[in-house]
Amino acid sequence: MDRLRFRSLASGSSGNCYFIGTASYGILIDAGVGVRATRKFLKGMGLDFHHIQGVFITHDHIDHIKAVGTIGEKHHVPIYATKAVHEGINKSYCVTQKLSSSQRFIDINQKIKVGEFVIQAFPVLHDASDSVGYSVEYRGKTFTFATDLGYISDVVAEHLVKSDYLVLEANYDEDMLANGPYPSHLQQRIKSRTGHLCNVQTAEFLANYYTDRWKYVFLCHLSKANNLPELAYTTIAEQLKSQMIDFENTMEIIPLERMSPSALYIFD
Ligand SMILES: [Zn+2]
Ligand SMILES: [Zn+2]
Repeated sequence: MDRLRFRSLASGSSGNCYFIGTASYGILIDAGVGVRATRKFLKGMGLDFHHIQGVFITHDHIDHIKAVGTIGEKHHVPIYATKAVHEGINKSYCVTQKLSSSQRFIDINQKIKVGEFVIQAFPVLHDASDSVGYSVEYRGKTFTFATDLGYISDVVAEHLVKSDYLVLEANYDEDMLANGPYPSHLQQRIKSRTGHLCNVQTAEFLANYYTDRWKYVFLCHLSKANNLPELAYTTIAEQLKSQMIDFENTMEIIPLERMSPSALYIFD
């Protein structure tokens, strides 16, 4: 009953939302998918909004906050975000239901306790009002979410290294981006230090910082136009193998689907 569970609802520029919790309650990281689909996703795990003790927002881009107004104000789920992100949410044209009673302000590095979960935000660089990743601790295990970031800073690396489970961005393949449909100004934005992580950046990080503590690496926010799940996987697996890292017995690498829910993972 109490084992740690994870399931992704969707991951990518069309919407992001992740559940982490137990069989009886949990939290969401981001609320970038419609309310109905989010509820259906929870029901699929025997849960509803009243089992969700908080939604933790990474940043105020629409693909992360679309449903936040309704989930917060209509379903009374506390919405946790930094002050700048809260301001961005309430200024966003796509959030029609503005947040008031459900607003919870957090600071970077502050530890928030929700049930048995301890959640800590850390800074990432991205082109939003403010951007954070989250580390979530539960009974000695740590799950870290790092999505929508231009590069992996030392602070981000520190959080990822002391984790058992990772949700880490692998947004684009460099050749696909260069030869794909995006105009050059958009390509530059994506590649910049405040853009998104490419497969190689993620691969190099995982190889250079590899630890056998990592059990699952879920690759998130894969671009529809500029990446493929197999390509993200292979880029990372080959980088690890080229550095003689025998990861296959200790760690699973799983690209998350963009538009459909993942399997439900129940960890030991
Ligand atoms: Zn995004
Ligand atoms: Zn973003």
